[in-house]
Amino acid sequence: MSQRPYVIDVMISAKTIAAKIEDLCSEITSEFGNTDKLIVVGLLRGSFVFIADLVRELDLPIEVDFLEASSYGDGMESSREVRILKDLRGAIEGRDVLVVEDIVDTGHTLNHVTKLLRSRNPKRLKSIALLDKPSRREVDFRSDWIGFEIPDEFVVGYGIDYAQRNRNLPFIGSVRFTDDPE
Ligand code: 5GP
Ligand code: MG
Ligand code: MG
Repeated sequence: MSQRPYVIDVMISAKTIAAKIEDLCSEITSEFGNTDKLIVVGLLRGSFVFIADLVRELDLPIEVDFLEASSYGDGMESSREVRILKDLRGAIEGRDVLVVEDIVDTGHTLNHVTKLLRSRNPKRLKSIALLDKPSRREVDFRSDWIGFEIPDEFVVGYGIDYAQRNRNLPFIGSVRFTDDPE
């Protein structure tokens, strides 16, 4: 699958991402302004760069936890069945929680994860996704904060992989196959 040759076109620059995170974090800081402690939950692995930048812009007392849900596997196909591969370390009952995701695509992953976490009775539960592909949605899910709406293109970089590669690019880029006749 990844043997096909491809190039990566810059879609969202590192500078544009940084500016967006500043804006989002001032909104999140005022939303959770009175919190005793905000538990920031990163969905592994795609959100690891985003959550790192995000928490450093939040002017709040926070804790960080991680959860891993299966979605794409190593390919480019979404799977509708969401499995929890790694659960949170800590309890969230009565706490303020912010779930951090890289991309909302069909919506199945965040829909499933937020329902699961809500069943544990947090005080407040909100979600943020860096990217949103609204044209791909299959379930009625909206994240509380979104960085950028993007078209239905396969993206990599800023933590997001193609077959585990390209996570270290500092920008969001779209994958273009060079053996494609178009
Ligand atoms: P959903 O359950 O909303 O369909 O899937 C969300 C997950 O699919 C994201 O967290 C991400 O892991 C993966 N995904 C969706 N679009 C892309 C994409 O363009 N590139 C990559 N690498 N993963 C994607
Ligand atoms: Mg993901
Ligand atoms: Mg992936």
